[in-house]
Amino acid sequence: MAEAKKRKGTALLAVMDENCSSCAGSPICEAHCPVDDCINLLYEELPGGGLKPYRVFVDNDKCIGCQMCFSDDLTKVQQHKDTGEIFYEYANKFYDANRKPVAADAVPKRISLQLIGTESEDRLDKKICPWDAIKMHEFEDGLAQSEYFYDQSKLKQVNGMYVIDAKEKARLEDKQSDLYD
Ligand code: SF4
Ligand code: SF4
Repeated sequence: MAEAKKRKGTALLAVMDENCSSCAGSPICEAHCPVDDCINLLYEELPGGGLKPYRVFVDNDKCIGCQMCFSDDLTKVQQHKDTGEIFYEYANKFYDANRKPVAADAVPKRISLQLIGTESEDRLDKKICPWDAIKMHEFEDGLAQSEYFYDQSKLKQVNGMYVIDAKEKARLEDKQSDLYD
């Protein structure tokens, strides 16, 4: 088995699912991503020839889990992996389970925390994706989840564009149907 990749900083991964419409070829999420070539437009081959925007995919090796593609205003709900303690994180500040600010010297190390959810006062308005196609996952879970929606090694590159052929598209759509059995 391949050794799990070591991640620096946050351990999250963004996954774009089947709700993604590619924003008609102008991905809104991509404009929010601070990492070059992390969110990529994917084209599909048309039966009669030619290409059409299909979805976006995330380069799992590049995503730093910053969530900037996910929401422009959210509170992250973090749980301490050892103690189970809940922390709320907003704008790089930490609050305890009673929403009281946590003193700087009591803030747990990032590596000890796992994201268990996010909250926002008005989440729907603050979400970046109009189709709710972006989900944030713990990194390993995200890797497994992304396999339902894209496999970068099976994409072609045509004139610098990523392209999915009909066979790979059908394979993924078949795999996705397992998610909803
Ligand atoms: S904003 Fe949503 S629909 Fe638009 S490209 Fe990104 S994931 Fe797809
Ligand atoms: S989480 Fe951050 S790095 Fe990852 S795709 Fe979204 S904006 Fe880009």
